[in-house]
Amino acid sequence: MRNTFRCSRCRAVKPVPSGTVGTGYAMHGTARRKVCYACCADLDRRWMERHDRMLLYMHTDEAFTEAERLHQLGLRTEPDPTSTYWIILTNWCGSLRIKPHSSGVGSHNWGLRRTSVWFRDHLGSEWHGYHIGRHTQIVHCRKLKGRTQ
Ligand SMILES: [Zn+2]
Repeated sequence: MRNTFRCSRCRAVKPVPSGTVGTGYAMHGTARRKVCYACCADLDRRWMERHDRMLLYMHTDEAFTEAERLHQLGLRTEPDPTSTYWIILTNWCGSLRIKPHSSGVGSHNWGLRRTSVWFRDHLGSEWHGYHIGRHTQIVHCRKLKGRTQ
């Protein structure tokens, strides 16, 4: 028998995948309710509409993985992971994916690399996020006032 769970938000009964890293659900909010990945993305979008701060996670996308593979084979120059082209931001469970439209790298006070990203949310509001160092994926994001189009 396959393991299933019921999403506490949309009430859908969904399978818990076996043998993969993901659990199929995320624990959301202070109540630690189980929600499916689709609802997790939805809740985070709602959050962005009502708040002006948000934590996202920085990754490089699949194209970067491919570019690195080509680099290993000597077929292209080494891709720079801080380039806007490769950066993808996600929510905690990975179901919300946001592509920044620009990025920049600077030095932080403690000599750590600070990467800035700018992106638009689903309603067109402009956000800025920053990421510090190499040992965390957390991006501290803040909605920019008066820039909504
Ligand atoms: Zn759901």
